[in-house]
Amino acid sequence: GGPPLAVKDLHVEFRTRAGIAQVVNGVNFHVEAGETLAILGESGCGKSVTAQAIMGILDTPPAAITGGEILYHGTDLLKLSEVKRREVRANQIAMIFQDALSALNPVFTVGFQLAELFRVHRGMSRKDAKAKAVELLDLVKIPAARQRVTDYPHQFSGGMRQRVMIAMALALDPDVLIADEPTTALDVTVQAQIMKLLAELKDERNMGLILITHDMGVVADVADRISVMYAGRIVERANVHDIYAKPSHPYTKALLQAIPRLDQKGEDLSVIKGLPPLLTDIPPGCAFHPRCTFAQDTCKTGEAPPEYAVNASHDSACHFWKDVRGDD
Ligand code: SF4
Ligand code: MG
Repeated sequence: GGPPLAVKDLHVEFRTRAGIAQVVNGVNFHVEAGETLAILGESGCGKSVTAQAIMGILDTPPAAITGGEILYHGTDLLKLSEVKRREVRANQIAMIFQDALSALNPVFTVGFQLAELFRVHRGMSRKDAKAKAVELLDLVKIPAARQRVTDYPHQFSGGMRQRVMIAMALALDPDVLIADEPTTALDVTVQAQIMKLLAELKDERNMGLILITHDMGVVADVADRISVMYAGRIVERANVHDIYAKPSHPYTKALLQAIPRLDQKGEDLSVIKGLPPLLTDIPPGCAFHPRCTFAQDTCKTGEAPPEYAVNASHDSACHFWKDVRGDD
């Protein structure tokens, strides 16, 4: 039972020379089958580390999962045997990264690398595996798949290479696909095409899709729900419409104002002043307070703000969420 993937109260620490960094500090979210969850935040907020914890690819040490659960259909991966855990991760939870070129092996053809997955994990013959490779390149809409299957990674454009990565990720029919900044290295038109492709494949295959990004602009059209992370915590969560229409945390509001607009070209874009905190030295109270234009004295001490229920499907970890919304 349970959704394909749920993360409960996840804690990840890094031991650094400067002390212990609380990189992920009590994070909760889930994704349903056929749904897209976007996880949004600046670099260093803990979003990639969260994904790495789910995939079991954290750099340990210095990183360590110090608390929480990673539930695959209700089963905690962290409590499974290493063998079982690896089986779930290899077959059911796939991930793609920003840098498709370094994720592919330059000395083998794309077709060979795809076919290997079917040979190793499905025990297919060479011929059947190659046919599957062509089928997958077709699935991700690479033109002339039958010819391109014998090309090497460097013979593909950045966008086509990311399509190859998506093909590899989908090869074993995962329930959940995690995409960490999948389009950041690509130009704007190609970004939109890749996002559209991911959304289509998610629908066709009824997968849970988790999109990790720093750019609120790229997920507006494809996400169902959005969770915004700051300094290792989720500070706001809502469905996509609510979050764009009525951001209820100052950080989200600032991220929205930082989306470049065509009509603002050449003008001073609104960016968030200051930098995210060092995770070895997270400010007391609300971690966002040094950068927050809404901050009051109560924000600067004590515990981090709890997640207040703005409505049934919208939470904000800001004491002053009503002021941020500007509701009467
Ligand atoms: Fe700003 Fe205070 Fe809200 Fe934090 S709790 S976001 S500092 S107003
Ligand atoms: Mg990252």
